[in-house]
Amino acid sequence: YSTAAAAVEDPINPSVKVNYTQLLIGGQFVDAVSGKTFQTLDPRTGEVIANIAEGDAEDVNRAVAVARKAFDEGPWPRMTAYERQRVLLRFADLIEKHNDELAALETWDNGKPYEQAAKIEVPMLARLMRYYAGWADKIHGLTVPADGPYHVQTLHEPIGVAGQIIPWNFPLLMFGWKVGPALACGNTVVMKTAEQTPLSALLASKLLHEAGLPSGVLNVVSGFGPTAGAAIASHMDVDKLAFTGSTATGKVVLQLAAKSNLKPVTLELGGKSPFIVCEDADVDKAVELAHFALFFNQGQCCCAGSRTFVHERVYDEFVEKAKARALNRSVGDPFRGGIEQGPQIDTDQFDKILKYINSGIESGATLETGGERFGNKGYYIKPTVFSNVKDDMLIAKDEIFGPVQTILKYKDLDEVIRRANSTQYGLAAGVFTHNIDTANTLTRALRVGTVWVNCFDTFDAAIPFGGYKMSGHGREKGIYSLSNYLQVKAVVTALNNPAW
Ligand code: NAD
Repeated sequence: YSTAAAAVEDPINPSVKVNYTQLLIGGQFVDAVSGKTFQTLDPRTGEVIANIAEGDAEDVNRAVAVARKAFDEGPWPRMTAYERQRVLLRFADLIEKHNDELAALETWDNGKPYEQAAKIEVPMLARLMRYYAGWADKIHGLTVPADGPYHVQTLHEPIGVAGQIIPWNFPLLMFGWKVGPALACGNTVVMKTAEQTPLSALLASKLLHEAGLPSGVLNVVSGFGPTAGAAIASHMDVDKLAFTGSTATGKVVLQLAAKSNLKPVTLELGGKSPFIVCEDADVDKAVELAHFALFFNQGQCCCAGSRTFVHERVYDEFVEKAKARALNRSVGDPFRGGIEQGPQIDTDQFDKILKYINSGIESGATLETGGERFGNKGYYIKPTVFSNVKDDMLIAKDEIFGPVQTILKYKDLDEVIRRANSTQYGLAAGVFTHNIDTANTLTRALRVGTVWVNCFDTFDAAIPFGGYKMSGHGREKGIYSLSNYLQVKAVVTALNNPAW
């Protein structure tokens, strides 16, 4: 590896260093062809962390050529499945060995609490890699009993060069959700990380090479969407595209894929997920879970429980306690222990969230608490709770992607089902009840990809995740994610002995 760029230290946490800032193409860290760089910023302060090589179409061309060669000439797709499995298992070990370093980079670049990154997200990445390592040698086709004198079998083959575009809210986990199934199935990859959070994927990719990944199999092009991202989506030699991000950009990349080589696309997009508190709820527990469902990760979750529907019988008590819980939320430097909420990702998101808060006030919702920035530097926003929210208010319709809880009152199940479903999105839902009939009715009636009953945000590697409606196409994680990265080939061989 060339590490031409000097290591950068965090002035607050000098043990954290940025060692990799270049593009990773063909197993080498290289500058962009243009020589351009962009700044990645510390959301705690808005200050520059490091200058990152800025890939664009030319770099994507280089990366795709390398990935193509690594796919067509091997060894990766032709190695035994057991050998691919061993690489992923060694990678998981290295993730654990570098747990704190990966977590620190994640917090520095993204602003999420270090404890969350170190205790939940990085261990989940290792778990995810072991899960996909487990699949590597269990992917196989069928023998098909067709009519006639034929021996018919299906081969499950890797699809080829996978283009992958990921967002900034869970940089390492999104990296894992994408590369895990792609690599387990024997594909090669060109990935574009989000421009806000390029750091942790570069270190993870370096570790993957240390684990024995052949060069050219995983290529990482940091850069911007309309340049590097669009070049991947429209590339004629990219065989499959996987995208996570906003619904608006999802529409753009789907069009680019259609206009170029019709590559199949999986999309994991936005949401406006209902969290339904039923009339039998233990209010204290419901408040805590609804709070977690919305505020986790600074509210920057595609599946955030961002419409809190509360039954009228428990509504007043719920609102009062939800307000108290939000007031109690510890906000501050995400590297400090005990911090629940760090800054938002960047100035665009910060401004957008404050605009939505103003629109909530103007449209007549009751601002219970929060509603403004926290402190005077960085992108911190006070945990905000609105009550008396109506379905037609913007704050109840749009994805805010911030620490803004909107509480809506309902009277009966039919009404809440209708209202919960009346959105363009269909990513997830939370249901809080101990009445099994109510739970069964809701889990079947809600038009969403995941229903969490008396829990929320459980992201086990084996559980499929994805959206109905405009929340996306396809499923990630679990057994379902493998089909995104496999072609099925039918092989029909005539039998010469008609007796057999
Ligand atoms: P985005 O959709 O613009 O960005 C996601 C990824 O797509 C990034 O890597 C980005 O560089 C890339 N991209 C952007 N334009 C592109 C283009 N024309 N072609 C190819 N790739 C392109 O999201 P954002 O601007 O970072 O955030 C805006 C909103 O998106 C958020 O407020 C939130 O509502 C939503 N979002 C959703 C998720 C999710 O997990 N579903 C994650 C991040 C953001």
